Amino acid sequence: MANRNFVFAFEAGDGKNKMLLGGKGANLCEMTQIGLNVPPGFVITTEACLAYLENNRLPDGLMDEVRAHVKALEKQTGKGFGSPVNPLLVSVRSGSAMSMPGMMDTILNLGLNPDTLNGLIAATGNPRFAYDAYRRFVQLYGKIALGVPDELFDAAMNAAKRRHGAAQDVDMSAENLKELADEFAAIVARHTGQSFPNDPWKQLEIAIGAVFRSWMGKRAVDYRKQFKITPEMANGTAVNVCTMVFGNLGQDSATGVGFTRNPGTGENLIYGEYLVNAQGEDVVAGIRTPKPIAAMETEMPELYRELMELRHRLESHYQEVQDFEFTIERGRLFCLQTRNGKMNAHAMVISSVEMFHEGILTKEQALTRIQPALLEQLMVPTLDPAFRAEPLAQGLAASPGACSGKIVFDADTAALRGKLGEKVILVREETKPEDIHGFFAAQGILTSRGGKTSHAAVVARGMGKPCVSGCEAIQIDVRERRARVGDTTFAESDVITIDGSSGKVYPGQIPTVEAHVFAELGEILSWADEASRLKVFANADTPHDAARARRYGARGIGLCRTERMFNEPDRLPIVQEMILAESPEQRRAALDRLLPIQRADFKGIFKEMQGLPVTVRLLDPPIHEFLPTAAQLEFEINHLRHLRRAVRRMEELPETLKMLDPDLHKEYVTSLERLHGALNTYHSAHRDDDLLAHKQAMLRKVHALSEVNPMLGHRGVRLGITYPEIYEMQIRAVLEATVESVKEGVEVHPEIMVPQVCTVEELKRVKSMVDAIQQDVEARCGVKLTFEFGTMVEVVRACMRAGRLAEVAEFFSFGTNDLTQATFSFSREDAENKFLPMYNETRILRDNPFEVLDVKGVGRLMQLAVQWGRETRPDLTIGICGEHGGHPESIRLCHYLGLDYVSCSAPRVPIARLAAAHAKLKEKGYDERMFV
Ligand code: PEP
Ligand code: MG
Repeated sequence: MANRNFVFAFEAGDGKNKMLLGGKGANLCEMTQIGLNVPPGFVITTEACLAYLENNRLPDGLMDEVRAHVKALEKQTGKGFGSPVNPLLVSVRSGSAMSMPGMMDTILNLGLNPDTLNGLIAATGNPRFAYDAYRRFVQLYGKIALGVPDELFDAAMNAAKRRHGAAQDVDMSAENLKELADEFAAIVARHTGQSFPNDPWKQLEIAIGAVFRSWMGKRAVDYRKQFKITPEMANGTAVNVCTMVFGNLGQDSATGVGFTRNPGTGENLIYGEYLVNAQGEDVVAGIRTPKPIAAMETEMPELYRELMELRHRLESHYQEVQDFEFTIERGRLFCLQTRNGKMNAHAMVISSVEMFHEGILTKEQALTRIQPALLEQLMVPTLDPAFRAEPLAQGLAASPGACSGKIVFDADTAALRGKLGEKVILVREETKPEDIHGFFAAQGILTSRGGKTSHAAVVARGMGKPCVSGCEAIQIDVRERRARVGDTTFAESDVITIDGSSGKVYPGQIPTVEAHVFAELGEILSWADEASRLKVFANADTPHDAARARRYGARGIGLCRTERMFNEPDRLPIVQEMILAESPEQRRAALDRLLPIQRADFKGIFKEMQGLPVTVRLLDPPIHEFLPTAAQLEFEINHLRHLRRAVRRMEELPETLKMLDPDLHKEYVTSLERLHGALNTYHSAHRDDDLLAHKQAMLRKVHALSEVNPMLGHRGVRLGITYPEIYEMQIRAVLEATVESVKEGVEVHPEIMVPQVCTVEELKRVKSMVDAIQQDVEARCGVKLTFEFGTMVEVVRACMRAGRLAEVAEFFSFGTNDLTQATFSFSREDAENKFLPMYNETRILRDNPFEVLDVKGVGRLMQLAVQWGRETRPDLTIGICGEHGGHPESIRLCHYLGLDYVSCSAPRVPIARLAAAHAKLKEKGYDERMFV
């Protein structure tokens, strides 16, 4: 403990230890050590941050180490910290193990005071530059280290610009900036009650603490919560103290940000922006609109060549697309930071495929650099190309995808209305890090200022939300809550559509179309299939769903929920008739009418799946779900009862109408008499009485079927055993559809699956139905049927009795939705909108177990069931068909447990295919400890 170093020079820090040095610090060390031109500096570790946060003061000895390292910087640069002749200025930057762009604080130009300011003027011969640096420092330091509200500085800046007739910051003279710096210092003094700290060592000490504190700032905490960044992934921020280099020293100086490849398209071309005679924050804040890096080739050809060299070295060293910041100080190029580029899913896929073909990455690396969940973005809608619409305005295509929503002008409103389920688009001049909660709630972001690397663009891209930035045609008046484009005015709540792929903005709502698997995605997913052991199936209930599942690469259907077919409007009345039947014969008569319909459904699905396995689950939900609610029936019965009286009253209506208003009478009398006549005929035929009797019978049935706890009641196999005719019809439909398909030349692999099983006796009863129907169908059709018979494992007892169930079942499919419900005794219908969010927020439970499979409880049960099931039947096929089947972490567990397949909804199939590959490629290090 006593000998632990809190500070490492860039020449000495371990570039691989991001937990200790933060991502930025580790990369600054690594870049220095591979010989890239990084300004000299040092890193203060995250351990120092944690010690600071625990004791609310800098750890003992830290400032001594800092002093020693500052002395070393003085030696390297030939400048002096606090020197009035040639002052050393530093930046104090945050940076944790996980990149959290803009969420924590950074202070620039530290070391300035009235004395060093003169030194800076003398050393650079550029008073305008020096005053500009000074006023920036006072503002940033005042805001971050001393808590002075930014608006006070912004207001003073805007007033000064107006006073001096300056359109932009660069139009302010040295004299103007000097005056502004004094004004800023006065603001700080007024707000804090103390004069601005001039001692550079004091400045540094306070700044280090302030950056440490920003780890616990609201923005950073919200961000970590949203992106589920746990202490194991990043714990505390490091502080990077780095010699300042200046991009605002004249026309031979510049600053910029670059991506080694295009983060929007993945194209193998440098992408980024720069500004001549500017400081880094100008590019990011969107205050001036920067130029694309391509323009540098003619403006600064030699430096452009050096930049291309830097790009090449960064990418080949890190074997990853890099997002880097650079500054050119008087013709000298410095790299100020680099990190793995956050790219949208499309760009990740394209660059993975290209970097493999360019020989930079292996297939494994190309696969593992893409987080499976990222592919969700590729399943986002794009504008329907068939829809013709005139765009309202053109901005920059900052983050792809299209969306429509109601305009909101600030992040708080976006968050509020988003929470209420409204679709909103956050429309701002430019965004700031404190708008982050608005980003989470909005469908997309539209800004009138800023480039493709502005805050809005970077954050939206990271989140995979559509963003159009720099749409200068839109004038926004936040106070009046209005936006104007040419002659058109938009109020808050007016609907617009933005297309982040083209940068276009449209009035009103435009239809969007589903995503598709493009060539490079197909290539990546085929590598994923080669690399993985688990197969990916889809949950699909209709031929249409089945076709989509195949397009996304599903290798079978793991769950076809037959009840979804029962709910179609042409079947529901027959299903209800079957439920209302008073005898098995009546029930069978209704089921006979359902049989051909179900058979046709299965044939449709078999045809789409062309020989891939199709797992048909027999009816599962409680049958009252197919009937209206008691309240609805009571309401209708009441109306029918009063119909006769109402009809009688109608006879009097024409006379009354005549008295009231002869014109109205003339207009309506004929139709009233016709309606009255029709209702009388209806009544004479007793049709209202029949309907009333039917509704009353239905109500009696609803009461009879009513259960206190239907999810644990008369459903699944319990239903199939008490009403065997239902399962018999479904089994027959599957087997007859198989025969007919085979006769038509379609290869079929059906599997019949029984839900809610808790004892082998249940399974045996259903199996004997299956055997009898199989014999009958085979005898009548002269065809030998091959299919599998299996069970869902979704009841705790089924896990405990898995060894016995495997005597009858040829396959298991884990229904982890019900199994989670049963393991936690949390209702899957209610928990998520009652106590679960609070449980997650207060960390009683880390995740929502209905979303992320609970490894220690549900996972452990699954492990036992797999083990015992395979002890009985070594070739038992095992899959999962609960929602967790499409979740990457859960897929990892399924791989570990030795399952054969995961099954999930069609749009999640690509994600699951990649996750299955990751599970295999990263299986080392995943072991029994996860259950502890
Ligand atoms: C399950 O319980 O996980 C399952 C797939 O079945 P359902 O969601 O239809 O109950
Ligand atoms: Mg279930």
